[in-house]
Amino acid sequence: MPDSITRTRTVAILGAGPVGLAAAAHVLERGLEPVVLEAGPTVGHAVRQWSHVQLFSPWDYNIDQAAGRLLAETGWNKPQPDHYPTGAELLEQYLEPLAMRTRLRDRIRTQSMVTSIGRAGFDKVKSKGREAAPFEIRYQNGRGPEVLRADAVIDATGTWFSPNPAGADGLPALGEREAQDRIAYGMPDVLGRDRARYAGRCVAVLGGGHSAIGTLIDLAKLKDEVPTTEIVWLLRSETPEKSFGGGAADQLAARGALGSAFAALVASGRITSATGFKASRITRDGDKLLVSAAGCPGRHVSVDELVVATGFRPDLDFLREIRLALDPALECPPALAPLIDPNLHSCGTVRPHGARELAQPETGFYFAGMKSYGRAPTFLMLTGYEQVRSIAAELAGDHEAAARVELVLPETGVCNGPAPSLSPDGTLAASGCCPAPAAALPVSGCGAPASPAKFATTPGAAAGPLAFLWSPATAWSIFLGIALVAATLGLAGIRFGAPEDVTGT
Ligand SMILES: Cc1cc2nc3c(=O)[nH]c(=O)nc-3n(C[C@H](O)[C@H](O)[C@H](O)COP(=O)(O)OP(=O)(O)OC[C@H]3O[C@@H](n4cnc5c(N)ncnc54)[C@H](O)[C@@H]3O)c2cc1C
Repeated sequence: MPDSITRTRTVAILGAGPVGLAAAAHVLERGLEPVVLEAGPTVGHAVRQWSHVQLFSPWDYNIDQAAGRLLAETGWNKPQPDHYPTGAELLEQYLEPLAMRTRLRDRIRTQSMVTSIGRAGFDKVKSKGREAAPFEIRYQNGRGPEVLRADAVIDATGTWFSPNPAGADGLPALGEREAQDRIAYGMPDVLGRDRARYAGRCVAVLGGGHSAIGTLIDLAKLKDEVPTTEIVWLLRSETPEKSFGGGAADQLAARGALGSAFAALVASGRITSATGFKASRITRDGDKLLVSAAGCPGRHVSVDELVVATGFRPDLDFLREIRLALDPALECPPALAPLIDPNLHSCGTVRPHGARELAQPETGFYFAGMKSYGRAPTFLMLTGYEQVRSIAAELAGDHEAAARVELVLPETGVCNGPAPSLSPDGTLAASGCCPAPAAALPVSGCGAPASPAKFATTPGAAAGPLAFLWSPATAWSIFLGIALVAATLGLAGIRFGAPEDVTGT
């Protein structure tokens, strides 16, 4: 352990989301001095963007223990542990009181956007004496450039503000930037704030994760109110089943129910689905937006609005002078990659991890929270709380506590491999991790038209829309869908959340 760490006093925490604030609580509890820099005007600035979304994890999973202890000092009324809050409730009942009423209050600087970090007096190349130098953190707060010096840094800036583009190759689709006025990223509030933009319009949603399906479910509710609303689901993957989640096998019931409700919606035919749709170009056609797919010449969808929900990626630009080691694919700390790589693993059974796995070659610098997962999708707040408990212990020199495992995470019930099956009673089979193959579903493949009004496909594509709608598999699926809707009605009223995007977007 270098001297610089045993002498750590000031810990700069970047981002005042749930994990950044939890980090501040743990650091304070350890007798160190946290300074939180938050880009937004208030804490929880990213959560505020999805405040309309209902979380799939109940309060019990959403409150950090050290934060809870700080709040308890203020006579805080702890929310019901089994209640599922919305993003707005997470802010009002937890993050805002934590930031405004506890001893963290004077340690949070809002409107403070971190723009670069270095090591005072040392460029990236210079090694000798580097570890003893404080971090120099530059930030903008509207009053000119500011500087904070700190002994350690926890980067908990999340990924919300750097969404993946529409292009299937990870690059923006050609024309995507020019069409920004018709494109929303993440989870627009289609039933509330953004209703006027989507009501009665033809809306395509691109993606297969929780953000996409949460938006599609909300659009279906909008269609109930405004029947002229048309909904198109564009999925890169050929197989939609993974988007249906683990059903009853998911240890977070609301997360499983989200997938089940979506499976029912797809089976009902109320949204038009196109699988294997790899967006490559976006062009304007009069009032419409033409979203074209790669690999199938002429295949495109013509819509009024496009919602891109293809996941997120970390912003690494302001870390250019920090010595980082990142997994080449996921852009997360290398030790974490095998635990969360969606190519290998998606059960949600991520082993609890902390300072050791999150450490970087730059001594005293750690990623935490959503950003620590890089491009991987399966992050839970609870994971982040355990990360920052461990990091704070390590910074305080309590290596035994830093290494201790204190968390069991709930499984999603979905692994790579075959997706859960629809059973004849209309529920998603609870077959555990890596369950049985899925039933046929009414989705269009490359070249097979889904709806003549919206899709143009390669000339000579055989299957017509009626054949698509009334095939025996479709009729069976519609029957299953109705049964599934009935099975999930018990959760009616819940506006499901979208934590992270599963693979296959
Ligand atoms: C729609 C949605 C629903 C979710 N539902 C759940 C759920 O039910 N249960 C669950 O456990 N998880 C859920 N998650 C996943 C995850 O737990 C949340 O995203 C959570 O907010 C992550 O917390 P965080 O503190 O790591 O990052 P964020 O909440 O993203 O906070 C990062 C903060 O850093 C700030 N910031 C960014 N850049 C800078 C900068 N350069 N300088 C200073 N500040 C900066 C941002 O403004 C933001 O306030 C959900 C995620 C989404 C998107």
